Formats: sequence, structure tokens, C-alpha cells
Amino acid sequence: MTLLFDLPANPCVPVLGEAAAFPVRRVFCVGRNYAAHAREMGFAPDRDAPFFFTKSAWTICPSGATIPYPPGTENCHYEMELVVAIGAPAFRIAEAEAPSAVLGYACGFDMTRRDLQNAARDQGRPWDCGKDFENAAVIAPITRAAHFDPREQAIRLTRNGTVKQDARLSDMIFSVPELIACLSAFYHLQPGDLLYTGTPAGVGPIAPGDRLAGTIDGLTPVELAIGAAE
Ligand code: MN
Repeated sequence: MTLLFDLPANPCVPVLGEAAAFPVRRVFCVGRNYAAHAREMGFAPDRDAPFFFTKSAWTICPSGATIPYPPGTENCHYEMELVVAIGAPAFRIAEAEAPSAVLGYACGFDMTRRDLQNAARDQGRPWDCGKDFENAAVIAPITRAAHFDPREQAIRLTRNGTVKQDARLSDMIFSVPELIACLSAFYHLQPGDLLYTGTPAGVGPIAPGDRLAGTIDGLTPVELAIGAAE
């Protein structure tokens, strides 16, 4: 079959020390996975079940980019997160087996148009416009799981050199294996899927001219510069 226009190649994420990159298939994200962040958003933390939302693969933005201040918002926020890269199929996988589905880990930003997200939330509408927009899934190169095991590592974000988020991966309400097991009850996870695992407390606004840096001990930092609005 011929195509009316070129099918664009999926975005890819470099893998540290390897020539082959990780082609992105789907982007899943977890909401309110750190208790202090749940509270700052106005919710009591709970361990009933994690909840998920999605971004299109076309929201992927490589670390080190300069992006225009996103359109349609007056209150775009950073959210520093650990990202899990899925490397093997997983459907209804047990928590104990979940690590076998992980190819590696990366630092990422879940950029959020907070004003649009909160307005949608308060009206009982979907969050998509607040979460799923161009350049909203920023990601650094992936480190293979053989070289990184998420435990009590520090997770931090600086905005223009000032620390804004500072927590530990062990502060997550649901661990990486628990998240993968839960998510795989709803989806046939496949190689190329990414999972943003939620952000610690301290989220806040960005402005043109900002430089964001996110670190997790043992992973490649993620960086982003904010340019003028288009
Ligand atoms: Mn998030």
C-alpha cells in the first residue's frame, strides 16, 4: 500500500554506551506517587492503587534541548521523575517477575500545563491538554538495568541552580515492580514503552530563560532550557 505522506519514524532515546537507540512506543505516567507531592496537590496520599495517564510518543523531547515556552498556558510546571524503559513483553506480570521486563532507567521531566490540568480536574474532564503536549516528555539517555537498581538514590531538580525538588526513590508510594505489575493488568506492555514513575514534592512554574537540571544518583542527568513563547 502506498502512503499519502511519509510515516514519521518514532522518537528514539539513546542508550548509554551503545550504538543502538531505544525507539519509543508508548508513554505511561503515574500520578501522585510521592506522599509529599500528593499533599501539595491537595490530596491525602493513599496506597489503594496507583493511577496512570498517558502521553503520545510524539511528546518526547531529548535532554539538552531548548524548547519554546509551551502554548496555551500561564503556569507550566516541571516534574522531575525516574523513567522506566520496558524491554520485554509483560501482561498480567507478577511483581516478583516485573524487573525482567525492564531494559533500563532514565531521568525525565513530566512537563505539565498545571493551569489546564487543574481546570480539567476540577470540572471532571480529562487531563490530556494539561499533560499530553509537544516536548512534554523530556528524557535523558537510558542506563541499562544491569548498571542501575532503584533503591534509596537521591532524586533532585534544580531551576537556575536552585534546588526545588529533593527526595529519595524510596519515597515512592508504589515501587517500580508494583507499578509495572499494576500497569500490566491493563495493557500488554511491549519493548519501547516508557513509564514515568511520578514526581516528588516541590513542583513549580517555569519561565522563559530558565534552565532545568534533574539528577538521580547513578543516572545521566536530564536538562532543559526554556526559550521565549512562540
Ligand atoms: Mn508526573
